[in-house]
Amino acid sequence: MKQSETLIPTLKEIPADADIKSHQLLLRAGFIRQTASGIYSFLPLGKRVLRKVEEIVREEMDAAGASEMFMPAMQPAELWHETGRWNTFGPELMRLNDRHDREFALGATHEEVITSLIRDEVKSYKKLPLMLYQIQTKFRDEKRPRFGLLRGREFVMKDAYTFHDSYESLDEAYQKMFQAYSNIFTRCGLNFRAVIADSGAMGGKDTHEFMVLSEVGEDTIAYSDSSTYAANIEMAPVITTYEKMDEPIKELEKVETPNKKSMQEVADFLNHPLSNGLKSLMFKVDEKLVLVVTRGDHEVNDIKLKNHFNATSVELATEEETRNVLGAGFGSLGPVGINGKVEVVADNAVKYVMNVSCGANEDGYHYINANPERDFDVDTFIDLRFILEGDPSPDGKGKIKFAKGIEVGHVFKLGQFYAEKLGATYLDDHGKSKTMIMGCYGIGVSRTLAAIVEQFHDEKGMTWPNEVAPFHVHLLTINAKKEEQQELADRLYQLFREVGIEVLYDDRTERAGVKFADSDLIGIPFRVTVGKKASEGIVEFKTRSNGEQIEIHESDLVDKLN
Ligand code: ATP
Ligand code: MG
Ligand code: MG
Ligand code: MG
Repeated sequence: MKQSETLIPTLKEIPADADIKSHQLLLRAGFIRQTASGIYSFLPLGKRVLRKVEEIVREEMDAAGASEMFMPAMQPAELWHETGRWNTFGPELMRLNDRHDREFALGATHEEVITSLIRDEVKSYKKLPLMLYQIQTKFRDEKRPRFGLLRGREFVMKDAYTFHDSYESLDEAYQKMFQAYSNIFTRCGLNFRAVIADSGAMGGKDTHEFMVLSEVGEDTIAYSDSSTYAANIEMAPVITTYEKMDEPIKELEKVETPNKKSMQEVADFLNHPLSNGLKSLMFKVDEKLVLVVTRGDHEVNDIKLKNHFNATSVELATEEETRNVLGAGFGSLGPVGINGKVEVVADNAVKYVMNVSCGANEDGYHYINANPERDFDVDTFIDLRFILEGDPSPDGKGKIKFAKGIEVGHVFKLGQFYAEKLGATYLDDHGKSKTMIMGCYGIGVSRTLAAIVEQFHDEKGMTWPNEVAPFHVHLLTINAKKEEQQELADRLYQLFREVGIEVLYDDRTERAGVKFADSDLIGIPFRVTVGKKASEGIVEFKTRSNGEQIEIHESDLVDKLN
């Protein structure tokens, strides 16, 4: 491709509202342009990379035995009503009406469409298992679209769905998908981890997220420094519901909760019997709400906790503040059960998030030793996880460390949720009607592209790994007005194209400095510069990633590039 004939609008300045590297560089190097908040055009270079990532995804999906298909982005509301997600998906689902005022959603995901399709088309166990996928534009009206392609409102996703007649069959498909995902992200050159994720409300079982390690990641993962153990310390939306529990079964002793506390007093407070029963307390630390949670039965880890707060003032949270965070008060409503996830903000900037369910409080008081399972009839029980850096890894191998991650992929054993709602059944080998079992598997293709840039750039621009680079070689002349330079460059351009080396040819009549700067910004893995020694057939060959530069004869170039 000739640069003079295509659209690569590079920018010298960092665009004002782009605060992370991938967003800045993709804009500056002319790969993307924003059309509306969270909605982007892919310009020729961006589109080429997107296509490369898509091709890797296709090859690995096909190799795993999945078949590609293509489903509509526009989906009738009726399907979403059948699963209940028309209501539960909330404002993230983009909705529109047609001219007859019929309601539609723009696909945020395709479980409804594919499950209804399979319900109609597959009737017998003989047709199972099935593995299907598509690469398609998805729409999600994200609350905070940001970071360029990382969190868009319109983005490219690969989504796969599998259908089974047994959980063993689902396990097999899950393993295959897991392996395919590992292959995909490895081929993209990424440093990633597969982490245990939260199966949330969908009632699924196993689920893993593929996380690209990056400071700009919005997820926090806890991983072992000497095994493959890794888990998402996930923050689901903070609890909004709680269940009322019965009155305490036994008479509990009440103590007045102290208000203003010094750090020492907090530590003492945590050693108070109070902590034993509740295992968690809301504090306000420097205007931030902090939930202090102890781990295990009666294992009050006050000193460790204390060391993790960098606080000048500590007080108990008010009922209202607590309610805002937890959906129900610790110091408020009497015996209530609280079940959900809360976060602890610690001074080392890691957010600890854990499942918690707790209860047994009253305004201004706490019951001593109130133990929700023992002292109350509860449907939910305490599940406190509070992992600190340096803790032993749950698999017994090594110590826990924390890292930020970008979720680029997600594999999920769905089970029967959608098949049940949509009535996807089949006849087994005895002619009995059974509900299908499903899995779903997503990859953020456009997000992956941005994640690659997060891991592959330097101060001058992007440094694309070969397999996903927009081109393999960037060809340019120092001075296009010199006939011998122009001639050699033209010849090399022809040659590269003939032997199938993807080449971007900067044939513009720009100064050499401008061309070099653009070239570094775009980050094609190799650069061939035709300059002074053109008449001898000698060119400069530069490797973008390490800056290595050699002189090479034109006749050796093809070998060098292959
Ligand atoms: P997130 O936690 O980042 O909001 P998600 O868990 O909602 O993502 P999934 O429903 O698991 O996303 O979708 C599958 C994949 O699609 C994700 O792993 C991610 O790579 C990608 N993805 C999700 N939302 C977006 C978005 N707004 N922009 C770009 N890619 C996205
Ligand atoms: Mg999301
Ligand atoms: Mg997620
Ligand atoms: Mg996900």
